[in-house]
Formats: sequence, C-alpha cells, structure tokens
Amino acid sequence: MVEAADVHKSFGRVEVLRGIDLTVQPGEVACVIGPSGSGKSTFLRCINHLERIDAGQMRVNGELIGYREAGGKLYELRESEVARQRRDIGMVFQRFNLFPHMTAAENVMEAPRTVRREQRQAARKRAVELLDRVGLVDKCDSYPTQLSGGQQQRVAIARALAMEPRLMLFDEPTSALDPELVGEVLDVMRGLARDGMTMVVVTHEMGFAREVGDSLVFMDEGRVVEAGNPREVLTNPQHERTKLFLSKVL
Ligand code: ATP
Ligand code: MG
Repeated sequence: MVEAADVHKSFGRVEVLRGIDLTVQPGEVACVIGPSGSGKSTFLRCINHLERIDAGQMRVNGELIGYREAGGKLYELRESEVARQRRDIGMVFQRFNLFPHMTAAENVMEAPRTVRREQRQAARKRAVELLDRVGLVDKCDSYPTQLSGGQQQRVAIARALAMEPRLMLFDEPTSALDPELVGEVLDVMRGLARDGMTMVVVTHEMGFAREVGDSLVFMDEGRVVEAGNPREVLTNPQHERTKLFLSKVL
C-alpha cells in the first residue's frame, strides 16, 4: 500500500530525510516514533506529496506519488492530478483544523460536496453515519467551539473518512489533547484498524503502538534506525539510539 524507497528531502541545506525505506502492506498499521526534529512529520507529508521529495520514490497503491513514469523518465504531475491521488489518502493532524463556522456534519460533508459534487441530502446522510462511527451522532449539529478537543479530533477523523480513503495518515493525533480525552480518539483509531484500514501513525502513545501497530518504526536524524514488531522493538531494541529514546519515553 505504501512503498517508500530511499526517500530524501532537504529544506535548504538541511537534509531532513536521508533515505527512508518503508513498506506498509494493505490493512497494516505502522506506528512511527522518534525524537523531535527526526523528520516524522516531513515523512508523512511526503506520502501525500504535501512535500515534494528530492530523490527516491514514494508509491501508494502501486502508483507513484507526484510523478508519472514514461519511457524511463519521471514527469511531475499537475496539481489537479496530485489532488486526485490525495483523495485516496486521509490525513489527521495534531491540531484538528475544523472549519469553525460549520457544524460537525457540515465539516464532514464539505469535501464530498465540493470535490465530488454530492447532493446535500446524500452527503448529510453519509456524514451522520460517519459521525455515528466515531461516537458523535448526537453532535452532528454542534459547532467546533461547542465540542471538546477529543470530540473535535473525532470529527476530524470522520471528515478524513468522508472521501473513502484507502490509507489514513495520523500525525500525533492525540498530543494536543488533555490526557483524559486521549483514550476516546485512540479507541476510534483502534476501530479503524480493526476494520482493516491501512494506517501510518506518528505517535507518542506506546501502548497504542504495542497493541494496534503491526510494525513500529523508530526514526532518528532522518533515517529509519530500527523497525519491526512493536513488542520486540519496545522490549528488546537493537540500537543504542532506540534504547536511549525509549528509556526517556517509556
Ligand atoms: P516533532 O516530533 O517535533 O513533530 P518531527 O520528527 O515531526 O518532529 P519534522 O517536523 O519532520 O520533525 O522536522 C524535521 C526537521 O525539518 C526539523 O529540523 C524542522 O525544523 C525541519 N523542517 C520541517 N519543515 C520545514 C520547512 N517547511 N522548512 C524548513 N525546515 C523545515
Ligand atoms: Mg512532527
């Protein structure tokens, strides 16, 4: 589903990703951990071409992201073609970024209405179903300011699901939440994983990584230092840098 091969990314002279290789199979959950500044967010943003990679290849569903291959050469895709590729990839950020002037249901309906030109009634019906799935069917007509952080983040997940993505990317979805609200968001993500969604999750929630993750990827200084079965990586890390990092966060 996701195949990153020797992905490089620099900002100016700073090489932030120094050759990332990562494969996520359909239905798998890959959790990504690592120190601040190690390139986790940048890597996620490269998956859906919010950042343009400098070298290497990124494929999702076998399709090259951001480029087209022809006659052994790569051609950059037009923005409209990149937008089409992004529709298959849902993304949820640390900050919920809901539209403040729209209700929960309207937030969820927005992309189906504007991108897919869905009829209002059909889009609303689907939005209510999605809000039900994240446990918020009674909050359809609430505005973001009337919702807790955990509820807002669950709306953000429903909104990402509205375009029926085949892959979901999460960038520290619970780190802006009060501790008592973290569980409800992780529960929704756990449900998605159970339903077979392919997910790449940058997180500090080691319990989630251990229970839900099929793989755990430790990044440091723009490289994958160690990757494998979450329980094995967490209980028996092979590299000094992984040991040091885990000793600080566990
Ligand atoms: P955190 O855990 O703090 O979220 P991270 O692992 O997600 O960290 P990134 O946000 O990917 O790290 O950043 C990696 C490095 O790239 C940092 O040094 C950051 O300052 C730099 N960086 C990220 N985005 C940009 C940008 N748009 N322009 C310049 N530098 C950037
Ligand atoms: Mg980050």
